[in-house]
Amino acid sequence: MTAESNSFEQDLAARIEDLRRQELYRELRRVDSPQSARLHWDGREYLNFSSNDYLGLATHPALREAARQAIAEFGAGAGASRLISGSLAPFHQLEETLAQFKGTEAALSFATGSAAALGTITSLVGKGDFIVIDKLVHASIVDAARLSGARLRVFAHNDLDDLDQILAWVARQSSKPRTLVVTESLFSMDGDQAPLRELVDLKDRHGAWLMIDEAHALGLFGPRRRGLAEHCGVADRIEIQMGTLGKAAGASGGFICGSRRLVDFLVNRARSFIFSTAPVPAAAAAARAGIELIAGPEGERRCADLWDRVAQLGRHPAPIVPVVVGSESAALDCAARLRERGMFVLAIRYPTVARGQARLRITLTAAHTPADVQALSDALREFCPDASKPDRQ
Ligand SMILES: *Cc1c(COP(=O)(O)O)cnc(C)c1O
Repeated sequence: MTAESNSFEQDLAARIEDLRRQELYRELRRVDSPQSARLHWDGREYLNFSSNDYLGLATHPALREAARQAIAEFGAGAGASRLISGSLAPFHQLEETLAQFKGTEAALSFATGSAAALGTITSLVGKGDFIVIDKLVHASIVDAARLSGARLRVFAHNDLDDLDQILAWVARQSSKPRTLVVTESLFSMDGDQAPLRELVDLKDRHGAWLMIDEAHALGLFGPRRRGLAEHCGVADRIEIQMGTLGKAAGASGGFICGSRRLVDFLVNRARSFIFSTAPVPAAAAAARAGIELIAGPEGERRCADLWDRVAQLGRHPAPIVPVVVGSESAALDCAARLRERGMFVLAIRYPTVARGQARLRITLTAAHTPADVQALSDALREFCPDASKPDRQ
């Protein structure tokens, strides 16, 4: 049977063609270098303004060494789910380090941040409960909310009045519904912040619970770089703090920080944790080294460097700099021009962002030099003149 005569292949071909027509087709690009401020792609070196390795830790010698040691001691694979026989020491060490770093009673690590969101949300709420999410939360949270079976309400992005009305409405639905509010702290595509102090007051007033996804804020905010909740002084009033170990922490994995009871409950109920082989121990060891670096003087230095670069570019007060271009084709065109200039910047399109909101998503890291940022600034002015004004969302 040839691919052409097969209705499955024909259907796929038509759907791919449709994506191409809408300029939404995506392809993997093979990168032949480590993840850092520069990357090698297609035989050429580019300045990398697309990475979430905010503190430049992904290639740090301490993380490499921690991974090597874990492999030497524990081997390559964990062999089983943590509840079967795979609960190897590196995962426990990582969780102790995470809880200490975040100042919570306990922590639980997952294979990825997405798995953490999925397992946690679906175990905390279900049929008969309510889940209320910000319009712009990450796809993993949207998917988890849908899968949970809880009644889903979406509030307008960072709109406290809208959330207040929804929570008041929820409270009228039954006497004591479980209600979980989920939002990000630093939003991944717009680089703006949730009003955490007001959110915490609001959810307390309505007796709801709050889960925040600090994927892009860990290592970047707060005197101890715990995240935006620390910066806002509300961490101990948030029931569930989620994060990833794949961004500023430089490795891979996801985690939940909170009470001992929360972690005990998740170990029993989070299906993405229970029914999945534990990650490679090297990932946990590298992530732990990343968290330790973030917590120490080197993390402090790198964090300060990063914010210096952000101030130097001067377009947006976060390491995630959205340059909204509008149409999908204009965004692709702008990204192509930057690539010709040797700069790797991603055009973000639907469905990652709303249609007509296509943008360049620039990320700055501590590994960029002032000269790198100057080159970017010049190129943006030259190639994306419409976007060189301050962004208005
Ligand atoms: C990246 C990301 C995740 C998922 O984390 P992974 O470890 O990459 O699976 C979750 N939430 C947000 C906001 C993210 O940006």
